[in-house]
Amino acid sequence: MKKLLILGSGTGGTIVANVMRKKLKSTEWDITIIDKNVDHIYQPGLLFLPFALYGYENETAVKKDRRDFIPSGVNFVQDEIKSIDKNKKTVKTAKGSYTYDKLVIALGCDVHPGEIEGMKESIGNGVNTFYSLPEALRLQKDLANFKGGKVILNIAEMPIKCPVAPLEFIFLADYYFTKKGIRDKVEINLCTPAPGAFSKPIASEIMSHSMKDKNIHLIPNFPIASVDNKKKIIKSFQKEETNYDLLVSIPPTRGADILDDSGLGNGAGYVDVDHHTLKVKDTDDIYAVGDVCNVPTSKAGSVAHFMAEVVIENLLNEINGKSIHPDFDGHSNCFIETGFKKAYLIDFNYKIEPLPGKFPLPGIGPFGLLKDTKMNHRGKMAFRNLYWKKLLRGKPLAPFNLVKNKLQMAGKDTSLLKK
Ligand SMILES: Cc1cc2nc3c(=O)[nH]c(=O)nc-3n(C[C@H](O)[C@H](O)[C@H](O)COP(=O)(O)OP(=O)(O)OC[C@H]3O[C@@H](n4cnc5c(N)ncnc54)[C@H](O)[C@@H]3O)c2cc1C
Repeated sequence: MKKLLILGSGTGGTIVANVMRKKLKSTEWDITIIDKNVDHIYQPGLLFLPFALYGYENETAVKKDRRDFIPSGVNFVQDEIKSIDKNKKTVKTAKGSYTYDKLVIALGCDVHPGEIEGMKESIGNGVNTFYSLPEALRLQKDLANFKGGKVILNIAEMPIKCPVAPLEFIFLADYYFTKKGIRDKVEINLCTPAPGAFSKPIASEIMSHSMKDKNIHLIPNFPIASVDNKKKIIKSFQKEETNYDLLVSIPPTRGADILDDSGLGNGAGYVDVDHHTLKVKDTDDIYAVGDVCNVPTSKAGSVAHFMAEVVIENLLNEINGKSIHPDFDGHSNCFIETGFKKAYLIDFNYKIEPLPGKFPLPGIGPFGLLKDTKMNHRGKMAFRNLYWKKLLRGKPLAPFNLVKNKLQMAGKDTSLLKK
C-alpha cells in the first residue's frame, strides 16, 4: 500500500484530501492528514466578528469540527508536526512518526506579535489583533466599549495573510462607528510599511480614493519597531512616532518554523516551490499548497483553492507516470468589504494586476471588478456557505466551471495596462 501524507487540514490540505480520496483507489493508496487541532475556523469571518456585523456575532459563525470535512477513507490524526526528513521520507509528530510516498505540505502561516518590542505584552490592554478566534472576540468587546479617539490599524510587515483584510478592517470600522453614531469622534488610520494602501497600483489608487471619501487617513512607509502602551505610542525603525487610543495590529507573519528546522524553509517558515508546478524545490515527492508557499501572490483562501487543483493534477500525473504541468499562474480572487453592505472584487495573478470589468461572465457579471457594489457584498456573504459545502470538499464553486484556477482575461478592461 502506498501512502499519501498531507500536513495541515486547513483550506488547502482539506481540498487535497477530499479530491485525492476520490481519485486514488483505496486498495492502492492510504491517505492520512495531520492537524494539531480539531477546530476548522472560517478565517474570512474573523474580519466581521470584531464588529459583530452581518450575523457574525460569536464563534458559531466561524467554527466547525474539521473532522466533518475529512471524507471517509482518509485517516485524520490530531497531532503536532515536529519535523520532516525528506531523505528518509518520514514526518515526526509529537506522538509518533509517519512515512510517505507522496507528501503535501499545507501548514499555512500565522502571526507573531512577540517579534515587535512591547506588542505581545500589550495585547488585551488597548492593543489587539483579529487573526485568531479569541483575538477577534476580544476586539469585539474593546470596540463595543470604545467611546471615541484615534484608531490605528497597523500592518507590521509584508507578506501578511489576506493582504486586503487591513483595508476591509478600516472600511468596516468606518461603517461600524457611523452606525453607532460616533463616527465624528473617531479618527481612523491605516499605518503601513508600504508606500500606498495596496501593493497593486491601479487598485491602490481606487482604494486611496475610497479612503479619502470615508475620511480615513494613510500613514505610509511606517515599519513598526515598537509599541509603548503606557504612552500609547508606536515607533517606526526610522524613529517616527504616532499615538493611538486603540491599536489593532497585524503582527509579523511567518510560515511554519518546523520547515526551517527541517531544511525545507526559507528562514521565515515558507517553503520554496516551483512557482508554477508547486513542487517543493530539490525534492522528488513533495508538493506544497496555500499560505505556506513562498510565491509572489496573495496568501488567500482563493489562492489555496486554485493551488490545490494544480497540486492534485500534478500528483496524479506523477502517480500515473506522466509529466507534471506548470499550470499555476498566481491567480487570486478577493472581495474587499467596504461597509454599508458593499464590496469591491479583485481578480489578478502573478503578471496581471486587478483590472476593472465583470466577473465571472464577461460583460454580464453579476460581480463588478474594482467596483464597490451591493452585489459584490452579497457574493462575499454567500461565500461562507460555499466554503463549507463545496470548496472544502473539492466541489466546483459555480456551474459550468465558471470559476477557473487560471486567470481569465475575457471581461477585463485592459486599456489601463497600456498607460
Ligand atoms: C482575518 C482574515 C480574513 C481573511 N479573509 C479572506 C478572504 O476574504 N478571502 C480569502 O480568499 N482568504 C481570506 N483569508 C485567508 C485564508 O483564510 C487563508 O489564506 C487560507 O485559510 C489558507 O489556507 P492554507 O490551507 O494555506 O492554511 P490554513 O487554512 O491556515 O491551514 C493550515 C493548517 O495547518 C495546521 N498546522 C500548522 N502548523 C502545524 C503543526 N506544526 N502541526 C499540525 N498542524 C499544523 C493549522 O492548524 C491549520 O489547520 C483571511 C484570513 C484572515 C486571518
